[in-house]
Amino acid sequence: MDVIDIANERAQRELDGLLAARRQMARLEAENATAAAECVECGETIPEARRRALPGVRLCIHCAEAAERRARMGV
Ligand SMILES: [Zn+2]
Repeated sequence: MDVIDIANERAQRELDGLLAARRQMARLEAENATAAAECVECGETIPEARRRALPGVRLCIHCAEAAERRARMGV
């Protein structure tokens, strides 16, 4: 095994660690977001069925539709 192999292996291991950490963070964020039971925009309760269907959803259906319309118009 030469120096390049050692460097590659080390880089690969660092990358693996980074990806694992990122996956764990994403999972924690999703759990936190799922716990948000109210729309962040209007405060209306988000039905559990909607939260279950869209893990991490932060908007009620009305605000989500409005946001989608805004996004489509490029605002
Ligand atoms: Zn809302």
